[in-house]
Amino acid sequence: MNVFSHPEFDNHEHLSIFCDPETGLKAIVAIHSTSRGPALGGCRMYPYASDEQALRDVLRLSRGMTYKSALANLDLGGGKSVIIGDPRKHKTEALLESMGRFLEQLGGQYIAAEDSGTSVSDLKVIGRQTTHVAGIKDHLGLDGVPSNGDPSPATAYGTYIGICMAVRHRLGRSDLQGLEVAIQGIGNVGYRLARHLKEAGAKLWVYDIHKDQMDRAVDELGATPVSAEEILALPVDVLAPCALGAVLNDSSIPRIQAKVVAGAANNQLERPEHDAALQKRGILYAPDFAINAGGIIDVFYERTNHDHHKVRAHVETIGTTLDEIFTRARSEGLPTGTIANRLAEERFRRSSADHQQSTSAMAKVG
Ligand code: NAD
Repeated sequence: MNVFSHPEFDNHEHLSIFCDPETGLKAIVAIHSTSRGPALGGCRMYPYASDEQALRDVLRLSRGMTYKSALANLDLGGGKSVIIGDPRKHKTEALLESMGRFLEQLGGQYIAAEDSGTSVSDLKVIGRQTTHVAGIKDHLGLDGVPSNGDPSPATAYGTYIGICMAVRHRLGRSDLQGLEVAIQGIGNVGYRLARHLKEAGAKLWVYDIHKDQMDRAVDELGATPVSAEEILALPVDVLAPCALGAVLNDSSIPRIQAKVVAGAANNQLERPEHDAALQKRGILYAPDFAINAGGIIDVFYERTNHDHHKVRAHVETIGTTLDEIFTRARSEGLPTGTIANRLAEERFRRSSADHQQSTSAMAKVG
């Protein structure tokens, strides 16, 4: 298995491999960059078919966190961890505590948050052995309602703000009254997003692999349930993918009739060039790592001073960032994903230079 020459390596700063035969823990932690601050990112548990698959995932996700945090103007680096195993079969408190002991050895360069296969309560178990976990403290959510640390409300609100901006750019509308939106995946984020949209007067179509999730949106929000096949190809204004990655691909893109694709799911483009395929079809795509940054913003404030007004104001900057991405994409004739990557790199370089300057100034003072 290649590491330095791995196609996803991209000059990662640090890679750790942890193994604890007693608890069955096999984990990889990847730190892409700490130039802007400690690397914060989810701890994913998944039954990877091979070590290579786990390595590829952690490297790709870790780099993605550097870009997401830079684009959201957060003083955070990018990192991610993966635990190899089936969360339904292999997750035990002993295994999670063992992960906590390993993370403690990294001295705070990497901070773990929840991700797929781990929950806030799992992170609390990891947190028995290390302080380097985030997204676990009770606080007032950005709507002023008490929250257990779950970042989903902030992610859903940021996605809603992003949809408003995309609709303004592509459809020239500043309100959502009667706007038609199809949501794929009505889970923690999708359902909350649906509620925001409903409150703004939108009409909703939904699909989820779990019928009870769909029923809730139908009963409580008056959404129309549709099939897996239909959800991506409905003649609506907005398609909001809020379930899984790689949903924008060679087979789905030609069938999409929506004029805007804007949802919370991570890694929506199967391949980077799929943003160009969307642009070619006249579909305005809100890059996922720009629109779904509400969660990381929320977790960041938990580590500083959690004032829900500040969190809300910061989450709302997702709208301004998307405004810049859409405007530049139009004037430069480039796909929005390409522009979002460039903007993240610009912000990353600018703030790394500031960070270095302040560190050397501090060294001089010291
Ligand atoms: P979740 O597990 O609560 O919800 C996902 C929903 O999608 C579930 O209801 C599930 O049944 C459904 N689903 C799974 N496969 C599906 C399919 N093939 N078709 C339709 N529905 C399907 O997860 P979540 O926290 O709501 O996150 C949703 C997406 O947003 C994920 O891609 C996640 O990585 C991303 N995201 C979440 C956050 C956050 O704060 N929770 C932050 C950033 C990005």
